[in-house]
Amino acid sequence: MDYAVRAMDNRGSIRAFAAVTTQLAGQAAKLHRCSPTSSAALGRSLTAASLMGLMLKSQNNRLTLQIVGGGPIGGIVAAANARGEVKGYVHAPQADLPLKAPGKLDVGGLVGKDGYLTVIKDLGLKEPYIGKVELVSGEIGEDMAAYFTYSEQIPTAVALGVLVDTDLSVRSAGGYIIQLMPDVSDGEADKLQERLMGVKPVSAMIDEGYSPESILEYVLQDSSLKFLESQSLKFNCDCSKERLEKVLISLGKEELRNMLEKEGQAELVCHFCNSRYLFKADQLEKLINMQI
Ligand SMILES: [Zn+2]
Repeated sequence: MDYAVRAMDNRGSIRAFAAVTTQLAGQAAKLHRCSPTSSAALGRSLTAASLMGLMLKSQNNRLTLQIVGGGPIGGIVAAANARGEVKGYVHAPQADLPLKAPGKLDVGGLVGKDGYLTVIKDLGLKEPYIGKVELVSGEIGEDMAAYFTYSEQIPTAVALGVLVDTDLSVRSAGGYIIQLMPDVSDGEADKLQERLMGVKPVSAMIDEGYSPESILEYVLQDSSLKFLESQSLKFNCDCSKERLEKVLISLGKEELRNMLEKEGQAELVCHFCNSRYLFKADQLEKLINMQI
């Protein structure tokens, strides 16, 4: 069962999030027929989106992460809402690279670091909030940490991990985010930084059976940690024929007329879940006539 938690230490100086995402990362990798390295890249991105979903204030809020680094994967999109529904895809799921060390997938190489991480938050306002940072390594965890530190001005540590098994299935996936609040002392911050350098990889923790709660207890070594919220997570796409109809309408009358003449129909595929939506000639005509 995938879920995420939000926690705080008793002084209110550290805010922390952790998630186990093994099932949803595995489901996404299978759905998109990902190579081992692209499974890891997509799984890490979905985990980051899941964790950020817990930071959203209202049930209708949603966020999208876009990572484009110039590497063979082409680009990654991951989206989540405050209800724990997560979806995502990569541009070239079959792209892969040799291991960079025994057992170490070269996610940074596959993603590339010549580009940006963009976070788009739909908070129900007129305009979405958009934050953008240059990629640090393309390993995604470090890039997310840079986003929080520079774009949101909150000193943040991020760990994201996906363990891919020899049969290419996802064996474990998850991550954590630790944020320092303004009143944290330098001593506390240094102690935490030292601690984080010594902990084992998060995918190994989850492979050993750690829950989101025990990940944070182990990483922070703080028995006063208060768990404030828990949210179940699942891979779920909210696409519908109505939504794709809007995409078609946005193409404009000319383009629709072109499609009708050339193809006699239009077939749209949802990037997030590969669902196919067929619009037949009469439906296309209706859409064309709707636009004056
Ligand atoms: Zn879909």
